[in-house]
Amino acid sequence: MTDAAGTAAGGWGLPQERRLVTEIPGPRSRAKFARRLEHVAAGVGTTLPVFVEAAGGGVLVDADGNSLIDLASGIAVTSVGNAAPAVVDRVVEQAHAFTHTCFMVTPYDGYVDVCEKLAELTPGNDAKKSALLNSGAEAVENAVKIARAFTGRQAVAVVDHAYHGRTNLTMAMTAKNMPYKHGFGPFAGEVYRAPMSYPFRERSPISGVEAADRAIDVLDKQVGATNLACLVIEPILGEGGFVVPADGFLPRLREWTDTNGIVFVADEIQTGFCRTGDWFACDHEGVVPDLVTTAKGIAGGFPLAAVTGRADIMDSVHVGGLGGTYGGNPVACAAALGAIEIMQKNDLAGAARRLGEVMTHRLDALSATHSCVGDVRGRGAMVAVEIVGTDGHTPEPVRAGSISAYCHSQGVLTLTCGTYGNVLRFLPPLVMPEPLLEEAFDVVAAGFDATA
Ligand code: PMP
Repeated sequence: MTDAAGTAAGGWGLPQERRLVTEIPGPRSRAKFARRLEHVAAGVGTTLPVFVEAAGGGVLVDADGNSLIDLASGIAVTSVGNAAPAVVDRVVEQAHAFTHTCFMVTPYDGYVDVCEKLAELTPGNDAKKSALLNSGAEAVENAVKIARAFTGRQAVAVVDHAYHGRTNLTMAMTAKNMPYKHGFGPFAGEVYRAPMSYPFRERSPISGVEAADRAIDVLDKQVGATNLACLVIEPILGEGGFVVPADGFLPRLREWTDTNGIVFVADEIQTGFCRTGDWFACDHEGVVPDLVTTAKGIAGGFPLAAVTGRADIMDSVHVGGLGGTYGGNPVACAAALGAIEIMQKNDLAGAARRLGEVMTHRLDALSATHSCVGDVRGRGAMVAVEIVGTDGHTPEPVRAGSISAYCHSQGVLTLTCGTYGNVLRFLPPLVMPEPLLEEAFDVVAAGFDATA
């Protein structure tokens, strides 16, 4: 993925290097942040208050001229690299042609092209169709609408630690109160939560199939399978802590939903589009969902989301029942076609697996020397470490935050997540040059030492 000069594939020109010329954040960013505080609602948070002026490959360049290594990808969005040329070129061409018609008013090819690609790339060989939306939450909302229309049922099953968005229905589906739900109720009804398979936090070892049967028992007893329209589940939990369920958990749930006429919705908004080393995380165990929700990595940074699934399910909604003014905007579709082209041409699924090996290797090494490493987990380039106390169990969100803050101060952008806020997660662009990733993990390792 890198040329002789160490520049990530693509040619956007930014040196692929960590370069600090001021403290982080620097004076210019601090001044801009003061203006932000004045004009932007306080409820909109900030992970790292540096103002970005350019980004490409694996780096972000801020207003003070610092070049930071990006281990966030804008929360798993810029998988093809920021401002990837194949995305930018298509976007410019499309923007010159036309920027909007509303697909529901007058159609255009880009929308249909993206739907065709989604049918080809998502799991399963059945005839599939898609509807395009603007955001992940909107895709999840639409998946529920479609499942309800298809089944004539109302209840929605989700799991512990799930994250599905911030709209009213998806807040109800999201597990964590603070900051996502606190004070924002009442929430949508008919949402029921089942226990997840969370291997590190099980009281005693339990197989994936047993964990699925535990979830099924709760849903059977408390909701009744025949009342359930759908089960919505992230194949690897994202915001909930990069929790990888035990093998067999997803296949068993897939089998049970099939037997009971429940629509199985895989929320692949964070895991999809090569992030986990396959096109979709469900591919890993050969699970074929009825519906898949996608967003984030699909369009190289442009707002686009989709529900894709079996044609008979997708077509169960009356004409005019799905849509929205901007859903499948032509510029966003052009960006998606560029991003998908990069993923296919450059085998970004393979790149994700290689980056994942580097990160896992580095974190495993840290676990040998730091007792605060409770669990190293993830798949492909979606990797995390859960930080715990000396008992090997109690969540340590303050330590996780300190390590992350150390990385920020040294020019490496990291994120935290998890129900307990104690998970450091790593989501590099899939075009990250490996030496740069190694350098970033030198900083992460120093962060463990500095906060010990
Ligand atoms: N589902 C999952 C699994 C997500 O990770 C997210 C975003 N973090 C969403 C849904 C919501 O997506 P958006 O922020 O685009 O609404």
